[in-house]
Amino acid sequence: MKPENNTYPILSVQTTYQCNMACANCYLGDMLNNPKFPDVDVKKFEDVIKRLPNKTHIRFIGAEPTLNGNLFELIKITKKFNHRPNMLTNGLKLADEDYVKGLKESGMTWIGLSMNGGLDDEVYKRFDNGKYAKLKMRALENCIKNNLVPHVNVIIDPSNVHILEPLISHIVSLCEKYNRKIGPHFPIMIRVKSIGKMGNFLDSYTFTIYEMINLMRNMLGDIVPNFTIDGVKETNTCTFDFKTSMGKMYGKITDWSVDDDGLPLTNSKRRGIITDDYQIKPFFDYYGKIDETQHPRLEQPKRLPIATKRSGLDGPRKRTL
Ligand code: SF4
Repeated sequence: MKPENNTYPILSVQTTYQCNMACANCYLGDMLNNPKFPDVDVKKFEDVIKRLPNKTHIRFIGAEPTLNGNLFELIKITKKFNHRPNMLTNGLKLADEDYVKGLKESGMTWIGLSMNGGLDDEVYKRFDNGKYAKLKMRALENCIKNNLVPHVNVIIDPSNVHILEPLISHIVSLCEKYNRKIGPHFPIMIRVKSIGKMGNFLDSYTFTIYEMINLMRNMLGDIVPNFTIDGVKETNTCTFDFKTSMGKMYGKITDWSVDDDGLPLTNSKRRGIITDDYQIKPFFDYYGKIDETQHPRLEQPKRLPIATKRSGLDGPRKRTL
């Protein structure tokens, strides 16, 4: 659809295909660091943003959006037209406090910070192929210190559920240190996701949403999942909240299991994407229908079949988007 007809409350932007990490679980597969895919064009981005009919959450994703040298300008454009910028990041650049201050000053509303290993380097080694605990903890602290709301993203399988509780305690202790009351004015969220078997992925078990709800209940008490998000009924994702010593923290659970086309969340009415030709499409449907031979920005190598079984143990291992 054209930008002026957009119906999605969340629009993602593929800010750049460059990344400074090489995680074991990355949905971009062979698109990562592929020089065929340039960064988003600032002028064309502005043209889309000014045509959107309603206030929209603009989500800067990537690979790693902080590797786009125009990111602060893109954030400012988003704010100028009264939309709400947020970002998904691996957080390495946010270990630099000045960079976090720059994000805040540009108008960033919140950042999704991936912390698959929590405080534990051994888990980062398995999920993210490196010891990242120190850098990620510094990034988290810089956000809380500088009043930039972190949504902490953790992909879980049976091997790393144990990192969640110490991670949540650490977040609360940082809020105590900087006297940040958690709640509507500083809505820290912990986002737990299962393994989506697309791109490069860990060959491990994909939790169902109900298994993840039970895990969080065992940890936090009797949480009440809400499957209506931004007024849209969802089946694969829910939110909840729970009490901490610094106020009410929010939680989100997302099941990234894939459908028969190898795509997760294809029925979502909330998530759209600004495409390579600067139109609007449903987020994952778009990736599933890209013709890799036709367009320079999203040209892709040949696709492989994808494992559709929950265990992933006896299906093909990898899909190349
Ligand atoms: S998952 Fe994110 S941080 Fe990791 S390699 Fe892919 S784009 Fe980079």
